[in-house]
Amino acid sequence: MKEIKLLIIHCSATRANRPFSTEALIATGRQRFGQPSYHYYVRQSGEVVQLLPEHVRGAHAKGYNSISIGICYEGGLDAQGHPADTRTEAQKAALLTLLQALKERYPSARIIGHRELPHVAKACPCFDASSAYAALQPRHR
Ligand SMILES: [Zn+2]
Repeated sequence: MKEIKLLIIHCSATRANRPFSTEALIATGRQRFGQPSYHYYVRQSGEVVQLLPEHVRGAHAKGYNSISIGICYEGGLDAQGHPADTRTEAQKAALLTLLQALKERYPSARIIGHRELPHVAKACPCFDASSAYAALQPRHR
């Protein structure tokens, strides 16, 4: 495992008014990549589910999987299916706690949204993760 340089935030790209179970997320990853895509899944309830050990390579950001941890929150689309920041207060709190814990383990890692990577033509994770977590970003870069 290489050094973890990025903590990459994703959304499940599912409608926030329709629950998307952990089992369904794992099944989607297995179908597309032969394994769960993300390391962590943050449910609308604020529950955090670990899908992969951190030392196992994820399958969530082409070209960056070996140097990143993938974090997916449930939702990202509004009831009409349009990209939207649908994070609940419980999800925001859970994401913050999770990212704080990850920063302890990977202090030099930057937190970014999937769409901030080059050549990503998606809205994922439907909010500006870099600035939302500015206070947690590494100071010396
Ligand atoms: Zn994504």
